Parts: sequence; structure tokens; C-alpha cells
Amino acid sequence: MKKFSIHFITVFAAVLPLLAPLAQTQSKNAAPQATNSNEQTVQNNKALPNVMILATGGTIAGAAKSGAQAAYTSGQVTIDAMVNAIPEVTKIANIKGEQISNVGSQDMSFEIMLKLANRINQAKDNTSVDGFVITHGTDTMEETAYFLNLVCKPDKPVVLVGSMRPSTAISADGPLNLYDAVAVAADPNAKNRGVLLVMNDWIHSAQTLTKVSTTAVQTFMSPIRGLIGTTAYGVNEYYRYPHQKYGAKSEFSVDGATKLPRVDVIYAGADMNADLIDAAVKLGAKGLVIAGVGNGNMNKASLDACARASKQGVVVLRSTRVATGNVARNVEVNDDQMGLIASYGLNPQKSRILLSVALLQPRKLDEIQRLFLEY
Ligand code: GLU
Repeated sequence: MKKFSIHFITVFAAVLPLLAPLAQTQSKNAAPQATNSNEQTVQNNKALPNVMILATGGTIAGAAKSGAQAAYTSGQVTIDAMVNAIPEVTKIANIKGEQISNVGSQDMSFEIMLKLANRINQAKDNTSVDGFVITHGTDTMEETAYFLNLVCKPDKPVVLVGSMRPSTAISADGPLNLYDAVAVAADPNAKNRGVLLVMNDWIHSAQTLTKVSTTAVQTFMSPIRGLIGTTAYGVNEYYRYPHQKYGAKSEFSVDGATKLPRVDVIYAGADMNADLIDAAVKLGAKGLVIAGVGNGNMNKASLDACARASKQGVVVLRSTRVATGNVARNVEVNDDQMGLIASYGLNPQKSRILLSVALLQPRKLDEIQRLFLEY
């Protein structure tokens, strides 16, 4: 029996990508109108909402040689094979899929993020799309989610989803996560709550979520502000709207942008060397985020280097390496005197995203500080 199971999993893993064409031919009602060569439509039932899945890769599309091994390769399984693993999804939505990229999210680039944002903004008024699901690796999911939250304006749910276990693992978490994400993206009650992330029954806001475990299935948390809601097999419950700006109220646009300005993150610690701050400035950083100790602190040599960087026109922001809590202005550091910005509730990786987007156009320091209070 044991032998059979292992053999079955191996064969299933090998066969998954091959199911793609089958999914297409089995769908009697498949709408043939594809707007580009990547696009696939699974069915077209007029009574159901239409969800566009934009696939980028990650563990949810990962495969291993066996169901019980830690090593695997991200981004192996195509979008249609993922959807084919959850036939129940065709009862809750019509699925249209597009493969945007197929990378582990450690390789997520601003180029791919811009492609995603442009695709969503382009399809936002398309009446045949009611919601978007983005499949993504979990490593940098919070950055992509927060980026899209700043620059996408659809009046439709945008939901990121991933998994911690590859598609071939024992108890793979991807299929149910994907089903739940589609159920939220297809739900009119999920509208106007900003970009969301659905994994392991929880609905998070892009603004609050953060990855807290390298391996555990419940890896995403929304400390302090809490969840947007919960979901269980298509039954969604919502508790709140995010209070920061996003979507239609966001002042940001990436229309026409092809890259983002360089912003580096420098991790603070006891007896840290200040020369990395000077080096980043020399290498052309337009912004610097210090993942400070405590309330965005760093040693005196580093603070002096930050003040020097600020005088040269580099925007220097104090965030924190601590998991929760705000970094406020002028508490232990005289930000006014040193020309620094405080991150308030944003962690270093999301601070880097906000600063990069903000620096797409020239802005004064007090305006940048306002952005960190409002977004
Ligand atoms: N490195 C992988 C990624 O981010 C693993 C994380 C995951 O997807 O769970 O794509």
C-alpha cells in the first residue's frame, strides 16, 4: 500500500502538467476568445462570476520528486494544471487564466510587478472580469500585494494566493487555498477592501500582512490591525475595511513606468558598520530604508551616515526590524534635524515599495512623510 501511494504521488506529479490540454478539451462551453496567446478560459457559464487568474509561479506551482521531501522547484506547474486539480471551482466561477511569469518569488522583479499592475488596470473596466486572483510565491508576496494595493485601481476584488507546500506534497495546501481565493475574488463583498491575500482560511489586507514562518502553512499574520475576514469552502466573512488609502483613492500611478528607482534596505544591529550606508549612496541609491533596532534606531555612526545621505538628496527612512509597532518621528532620533523620514506601521520591505513608488516623481520630504502616514 505504502509503495502504491508513493508511486501514485510520483505519477500524479509527473502527469499534472500534462493535464493542461485535457482541461481545455474537456470543457464543452469553453469560450474561445483569447486576447493573447497566454490566455485560457476553462468554461463560460453566464450564471457565474468571472475570475481572471494571473499566474506568476511560486510554491503553489511547485513540484517535487516525492510527496515527502522538503526540496522542490518553484514554478513548475502551469495555471491550467492548478485549476484542473480543483474541479469544484467551476461551480463557483468561470476561470480565465493568464501566465504572467513562472518564477519562485525570490526572483519576483519590479518588471513582473509592473506587468501585473498594468494587466489589472487594463482589465479593470472589462465587464467579463468580476475579480482577479494572482498566484504567487510566498517569499515576496507581501511586497507584490502592497505594490498592487498602491497602484491598481479596480473596483473589483484582487486576491493574492500561494501555498507553503508544493503541489506534489502530502497534504498540499495549494488546491484549497486557490479555491478559497477564487471564492473571495468572485464575491462582491470583497470589493473595495484593497488588495487581499487569502491563505489557510484567512483574508488579509496587503497593508498589514507579513510572512512570519519559513515553513509553516499558517505563515501569514496581520499583527496589530488584524484580519479583513475569514473564508471556509466558499463561505466568506468580513470584519473590516482597511483604513489606509488604496485603490481608487491612491494618488500613485505606474502608467508608462518601466522600472522603479533604486531603494536599498540596510539591516541594523549592535555595533553595526555605517559604511554600508555610504556605499549604498555611492552606488546610486535614491532611497534608503534602515531596518532599525527598536523604534527605528541605529548607532550614532549610522545616524551620522544617514544625515550625510539625506544632505546629498537621498531619502532616508527609519523602519524597524521589530515585528510589530510604529516607528514614529522625533522620539529617540531628531528626524527634523537630520532630515529623516519615519515609517510608522510599515515594515522595511513594504517601506521599500512605498518609497520606490513615491520616488517615481520628485517629492519633498514632508510630502514623503505624509505618504507613510496615509498608505
Ligand atoms: N521560494 C518560494 C517562493 O516564494 C517559496 C515560498 C512559497 O511559495 O511558499 O516562491
